[in-house]
Amino acid sequence: MIVGFGVDVLEIVRVDLKLANKVLTKDELENRAKIDEEYIAGRFALKEAYFKALGTGIDGNSFQDVSFLNGPFGEVCPVLHKYIPPVHGVFNRMHASLAHDRFAYASVILEKERGGIYIGLGSNLGDRLANLRSALGEISEFCNILNVTKVYESKPYGKTDQPDFLNCVVEVDTDLPPLELLKVLLDVERSMGRIRTEKWGPRVIDLDILFYGNLVIRTPELVVPHYDFENRIFFVLPMRELNAHLVHPALKASMERLYQELLSRTFGEDVGIEVYGDV
Ligand code: ATP
Ligand code: CA
Ligand code: CA
Repeated sequence: MIVGFGVDVLEIVRVDLKLANKVLTKDELENRAKIDEEYIAGRFALKEAYFKALGTGIDGNSFQDVSFLNGPFGEVCPVLHKYIPPVHGVFNRMHASLAHDRFAYASVILEKERGGIYIGLGSNLGDRLANLRSALGEISEFCNILNVTKVYESKPYGKTDQPDFLNCVVEVDTDLPPLELLKVLLDVERSMGRIRTEKWGPRVIDLDILFYGNLVIRTPELVVPHYDFENRIFFVLPMRELNAHLVHPALKASMERLYQELLSRTFGEDVGIEVYGDV
């Protein structure tokens, strides 16, 4: 369902290069070799269109809350540095498009699609299967669970001198904004007795947000899609089980392709993951 739509138009000669630091984020400044009037006009129009789509306008918000980067195919790739709730509803998908001649023309669509939010679960302490099950029970208190993968057993990642993991991925539908979802997931981890000691150490339960629709989010507390998704077989293989055609919104590659690429990087060696059973 479309929850917001905004357009904006701006004549490029009206743009002053001095606007660059106000309008452009650090990511946008780094995304372009030469910052010219056309680039600034495009970002300005896109941000105006985005705030119109939200229904909030720019008041109380900032041009620094969102980046519109150029993707490898010339497409516009939005990156949220803050999730601003729209006046009407919530969104988990965003689409942006830009054209120019004398003017920059921008449009932004915000959508709420059922599901499309994926959480990765992992456990390697205690009764691992029971831990996955009770985490799913807790998650179902505040999310609609739409799909759960099989349970996979895998070798520990990063820090290898610890017990093997059980992992699965769940697709949920929720109206919780991304940071609120992260907060409740961290609460579930705490309530299940997770204590953070060393990085990548053993844990009763780990809950990571893998995808939140097609949104790309980069904030100090939350990075979505998960920053290391494509390198972890225990994320990629279950996601491929759920939806092989789903496209990673930052890498623009399907789950199938990411799986094949991960396999090709193992050079024929065992990828270290097996089906363990059902939840
Ligand atoms: P990794 O993040 O490499 O998988 P980890 O899961 O062991 O390692 P944690 O200690 O569980 O790391 O998380 C540290 C912090 O990561 C969390 O407090 C949270 O603020 C932040 N974080 C950033 N992005 C995400 C995300 N997509 N899902 C969950 N936590 C995230
Ligand atoms: Ca993790
Ligand atoms: Ca985590």
